[in-house]
Amino acid sequence: MNPFIFLHKRGNLKEASLAVTLRDETQRFKAIVDTIEDGVVFVDDKQRIVLMNPAAGILTGWKPDDAVGIDSRNVIKYTLEKGVPIPQENDPLMQVFTTGQSVKNNNLFLLTRDNQQISIALNISPLKDEAGDVIATVLVIRDVTKERAEEQQRADFISTASHEMRTPVAAIEGYLSLALNNKVANIDSRARDYLEKAYSSTKHLGELFQDLLTSAKAEDGRLTSHPRVVELGEFLEKVSNDLRIVANGKGLDMEFRSNSDTSINATSESLGGEKVVRPLYYAYADPERIREVVTNLFDNAVKYTEQGKITLCITGNKQVVQCFIRDTGPGIPSEDTPHLFQKFYRVDNSATRTIGGTGLGLFICRKIIELYNGQIWVESKLGEGSTFFFNLPRIDNQKALTMIKNTPATD
Ligand code: ADP
Repeated sequence: MNPFIFLHKRGNLKEASLAVTLRDETQRFKAIVDTIEDGVVFVDDKQRIVLMNPAAGILTGWKPDDAVGIDSRNVIKYTLEKGVPIPQENDPLMQVFTTGQSVKNNNLFLLTRDNQQISIALNISPLKDEAGDVIATVLVIRDVTKERAEEQQRADFISTASHEMRTPVAAIEGYLSLALNNKVANIDSRARDYLEKAYSSTKHLGELFQDLLTSAKAEDGRLTSHPRVVELGEFLEKVSNDLRIVANGKGLDMEFRSNSDTSINATSESLGGEKVVRPLYYAYADPERIREVVTNLFDNAVKYTEQGKITLCITGNKQVVQCFIRDTGPGIPSEDTPHLFQKFYRVDNSATRTIGGTGLGLFICRKIIELYNGQIWVESKLGEGSTFFFNLPRIDNQKALTMIKNTPATD
């Protein structure tokens, strides 16, 4: 029964006036919620919709009055990209009820009543009772289709522009390099000095365009990838030979290690007629993309380290293959480490001001590693060097060999 009618019936004047005040408050509250441009939905602890504003009605395709009392999961159907349902353990609404914390997700899609998909930003906040238990939640849903389309346009523009500009820059770089080659051109020392500076800036520009192009592709999922089963131990050992030259060129030592973990069943193989035991680290990834990540992390280690050693190590356990690159460089302040893998983020200190870079390398590394369901992170202490890690899901040796056997030959 409506509480206002109930109080009026009892004829208690004081209570009746309280009821009127309450009704006024409720109406005022409803008027405010109704004018909000974002969709606002109140959901009780049984997951039923208690209130829905008109904006949420337009977004979902449900009349607010029809939606009230219905299980919210039948009305607000959000999915991951391409209609992939969210696993129950990651359902934002459930997370708010179980953790009591707000949840934000800007990368979801709302499935409307007539099966249209719209990009949304979702924010769910808990309403708690005095004991701190969540008794309801407030969902704020914003249609971000336009923003997403604009982002896509921006990414397309960056991609096209960087692609177009990279070509003439590569030509300039080529000619400058010819001009600097003693066998091809004769130049005096002053001209050499100017050309060397021009060459170095052009090289930097070329790298910037390349990084911009790769990061734009990584963002909209156009990064080319030809994944296959790859044994990363042997692969990285080969890669390390090229990297050693880079490190030694700057007077730094370089060590490659392949660690066996006792929890892993090491495989015996016959190599060169000699019986050796060495762990095999199979993963499913495009080896060229993994080379890009390792080279990027290694180049950074060399770039930011003045003296000491760079270690490239491959290790793992039953679940993951882990690769890390450790340096004896300046280290990274703890307040910067959570942001390092974001686009354009560079630590602001004297070293980065003098050492060139785009702040895109680690962002690209993260995007590549995430492509293969891996994780990438850094551990560092100021003054004590940095270690960049990445993990990739490991494929059991037997399964890997079967997968390789069943892969059709490409040529
Ligand atoms: P950049 O082109 O600036 O090197 P990255 O995305 O590769 O861009 O790296 C982001 C920032 O992280 C760098 O600007 C630098 O401040 C910091 N950084 C990366 N690797 C190291 C390292 N091995 N030692 C110290 N700082 C590092």
